Amino acid sequence: MATVTDAPRTGFAPPKVRRTQCFIGGRWVDAASGKTFQTFNPATEELIADVAEGDAADVDRAVKAARQAFDSGPWRKTDARDRGRMLNRLADLMEENLDELAALETLDNGKPISDSRNGDLPLAIDCIRYYAGWADKIHGQTIPVRGDFFCYTRKEPVGVAGQIIPWNFPLLMAAWKWGPALATGCTIVMKPAEQTPLTCLRLADLAQEAGFPDGVLNVVPGFGPTAGGAIVKHPGVDKVAFTGSTEVGKLIMRGAADTLKRVTLELGGKSPNIVFADADLDAAVAGAEVALFLNQGQCCCAGSRLFVEEKIHDEFVERCVERAKGRRLGDPFDPNTIQGPQVDREQFDKILGYIEKGRQQGAKVLTGGGRFGERGFFVEPTVFSGVKDDMVIAQEEIFGPVMSVLPFKTVDEVIERGNKTCYGLAAAVWTRDVAKAHRAANGLRAGTVWINCYDAFDAAAPFGGFKQSGLGRELGEAALNNYTELKTVTMSLA
Ligand code: NAP
Ligand code: MG
Repeated sequence: MATVTDAPRTGFAPPKVRRTQCFIGGRWVDAASGKTFQTFNPATEELIADVAEGDAADVDRAVKAARQAFDSGPWRKTDARDRGRMLNRLADLMEENLDELAALETLDNGKPISDSRNGDLPLAIDCIRYYAGWADKIHGQTIPVRGDFFCYTRKEPVGVAGQIIPWNFPLLMAAWKWGPALATGCTIVMKPAEQTPLTCLRLADLAQEAGFPDGVLNVVPGFGPTAGGAIVKHPGVDKVAFTGSTEVGKLIMRGAADTLKRVTLELGGKSPNIVFADADLDAAVAGAEVALFLNQGQCCCAGSRLFVEEKIHDEFVERCVERAKGRRLGDPFDPNTIQGPQVDREQFDKILGYIEKGRQQGAKVLTGGGRFGERGFFVEPTVFSGVKDDMVIAQEEIFGPVMSVLPFKTVDEVIERGNKTCYGLAAAVWTRDVAKAHRAANGLRAGTVWINCYDAFDAAAPFGGFKQSGLGRELGEAALNNYTELKTVTMSLA
């Protein structure tokens, strides 16, 4: 059994919730309908706050504010370098308020405070700083065309960006989307996930303090089909950026077609994590744990198909089980906790349903397999062996702490099986053989391949999916293209 942390809460008391309204045109306002929805603490199932339930009317107000700021407000005349300065100022403010933001994230999402403090927050701050650096370095080209012409290109902001984000890394996903959009000079209407609206709202507060003009950043909390759907359909929105399920990603692409919005999608995965017998096994065992269990298994790039070379399979599985059993579950505000609750009851039920399905289809639960404790949406770290490629647990995204181990024999076989899903977000390879590592890296159809590491993220390194894992790339220089239009200017010299 995993151990309960009994250490007292130290240091990080749940923070004060400062912002629960919509942020539109630089003002904090109730939803036009006056409605609110509740956001819960998934560790205790207790109500945290009532939050404004924005819908089409609020999205319309937000789009008008964003349009005005883009088309005729001071934002248009703000020098690129000053956009960079504002982004850096926002990063400074995030640093100054790091404890509060981390605690708010842990309260709303349930992730362990050590993760929010040492992972989500530093990564989000780094991302904002990285794009601050890009703001004044987005250049066009001069082009040697035939004839007596002067031809050059400009990279112009795409306009109003509608951004819809999920609940698994709420603040970090906001940073991934705000960074490139603000660096390029776009304005934003964001809808955070209904489960976790609080840190995004607080971030808007800090952005205002950082000096972004009114209307540049708008946040409309609410539900997917109403507030999210209104962003996707609104003719005043030029581009939609979405992170979430593949299912909703398809709806968004369809919905955006009528107005031909630019669309980028970061969707689900079923990423293969491949361990060869010649790997540093200590590192690979630790890596397999992180790959799957990090963030309660709620990662789009989770290494949810753990392929282990047959020769070492039994020993490796035993070590994975040992590590799963050693994970400390409990109060997410305890700095020693490494696994908190799932984000809500829906996810909790869905995960337990997948565990049941795995059992029914003949896979074997070696540890875990049920609820942990009586309060909060905790799921025991679970390891399945005897998993076959066509089982539901090897094909569908579980998004929970459920590891599936599959044995393999050869490099070519594991590449082929690794590619056999509709997804292609990430993959990893563990081996000491350099040629084998690169052969696998070339053969795997995934947007990211890690070699002898997992979840090694950097704001400068592009991230996104092949196949049904998405469209376009976030992070790095690549993400700037998501928020710019390329304009060609040609002048006669005759
Ligand atoms: P989801 O429905 O795709 O939610 C992601 C975001 O899209 C949320 O803000 C959501 O609003 C919004 N949304 C939902 N339906 C919409 C619509 N018709 N139009 C516009 N926006 C819409 O994901 P979920 O329901 O939270 O989770 C379901 C599964 O998705 C998970 O079990 C997991 O497999 C996968 N997932 C993947 C990622 C990822 O990072 N790739 C992240 C989260 C979940 P609400 O706030 O109302 O939901
Ligand atoms: Mg949803």
